[in-house]
Amino acid sequence: MTTDWNFEATYLELRDIFYDRGPIHPVDNPTLVLFNDTLAATLGLDAQRLKQDTDLLAGNRQTDTSFSQAYAGHQFGNLTMLGDGRALMLGEHVTRDGKRVDVQLKGSGPTEYSRGGDGRAALGPMVREFIISEAMDALGIPTNRALAVVQTGEAIMRQGPKHGAILTRVASSHLRVGTFQFAAGAGSIDDVIALTEFAIKRHDPDLVDTPNRYEQFLGRVVERQARLIANWQLVGFIHGVMNTDNMFISGEGLDYGPCAFMDTYHPETVFSSIDREGRYAYGNQPYIGSWNLARLAETLLPLLGETKEEAVDVANKQLTRYTELYKEAYFTGLAHKIGLYVRKDVDDALADELLRLMMETEADYTNTFRALTLGEIESLPFATRDDGKAWLDAWQKRLSEQGLPNEDVGRIMRQYNPSVIPRNHHVEKAIQAAERGDFGPTEALLEILRDPYNDDQPSEYVSAGPPRTYPYQTFCGT
Ligand code: AMP
Ligand code: MG
Ligand code: MG
Repeated sequence: MTTDWNFEATYLELRDIFYDRGPIHPVDNPTLVLFNDTLAATLGLDAQRLKQDTDLLAGNRQTDTSFSQAYAGHQFGNLTMLGDGRALMLGEHVTRDGKRVDVQLKGSGPTEYSRGGDGRAALGPMVREFIISEAMDALGIPTNRALAVVQTGEAIMRQGPKHGAILTRVASSHLRVGTFQFAAGAGSIDDVIALTEFAIKRHDPDLVDTPNRYEQFLGRVVERQARLIANWQLVGFIHGVMNTDNMFISGEGLDYGPCAFMDTYHPETVFSSIDREGRYAYGNQPYIGSWNLARLAETLLPLLGETKEEAVDVANKQLTRYTELYKEAYFTGLAHKIGLYVRKDVDDALADELLRLMMETEADYTNTFRALTLGEIESLPFATRDDGKAWLDAWQKRLSEQGLPNEDVGRIMRQYNPSVIPRNHHVEKAIQAAERGDFGPTEALLEILRDPYNDDQPSEYVSAGPPRTYPYQTFCGT
């Protein structure tokens, strides 16, 4: 039985403009501080053996399958050449049942793409990424995963000295919208074709050799992103930095730096300190998803038709599906959140009115749905308002129309309404303790977040947390 890494590097079959294979940058004194045993088991790996090999997880050992990837990206709307400035792919691990995943170190030192950066990462942001990606996975939302965090033993300079750390993350691939922008911008049409064929083989193997596969591939990415972003909206997740280099074509989420879960419901909520114009505000995320996909479609245009006009038509045909697919996923999810099993047209307005009430009464997003689930109506901040009562009546009426027993309605609602999300104050406390060398609070939080639909979670993790006198802000985690 395979219990050790089984690395390949098919990505290196692409032309060498797509990667850098520079030297590694070993660290002196690496210590393993977080490890994901469950994920290791899923990958068919022996956790105990992996944990002993701190050097690999610290980027101290050269593998013949390692590389850093080139990519470009629209960052807050501006196109820039980027690349893995602080990341090193250890290789593509192939599991015993033939599943291929990228295994990547983040914070492993400078590369050709570092642009003056130190190539390193601080412990706090890596712990945050670990926590959020575990929470996402447990919520059932596609995401890259965190396997390990190693503290490097070295100090790095951010705003003052910080502990350096390296995160090992696992993804079905690291191909981004920005990888295609790189191919189109720095390469030739042949490079775009080669990359697209590579991506199809990796993510949509059923399309290999089909005649209109480039169009269908675009359609698949559209579908995956529509679903992903609908899922984010439904749990109140704000990514914070939805640049095209932070959008995987696999439909998994990544780069949980300035992200946070919304507490008080408001569509304009922004947490990231650098997002001054609210480009990536909660309510804007669905629109940004479609904007990013249009950037992907642009790179594929030469592959989509004989003439420019034809190609644009094909691209638009796929891009316009996004809004439909998104709305379908989002409103069906909302209907489920309020216990409606088969969504009817009228349910969208019912859900919208609930959101309006939540916004006006500054209700906690997660806990409003939980209160509805548990029948704790009197705890809702709009319970005594006329429009609140009218909504509750309309909702009850719609529920009874379904003719489902209460237990079944409750079961549906429990499946779609988490009791625990990574509340900002818990995440901050865990990170602060980790920075002092105490990983207990992080482990405790992880255990809670891995079981988000459990009704019996401790109340301190369920409650919205202490009211704030100033808005919560996140900083670009580096
Ligand atoms: P991110 O905001 O994490 O998506 O990163 C944006 C770009 O900046 C990517 O190309 C990163 O590789 C690069 N980058 C971020 N931090 C560093 C760093 N400390 N050193 C070098 N490159 C970095
Ligand atoms: Mg190269
Ligand atoms: Mg990024």
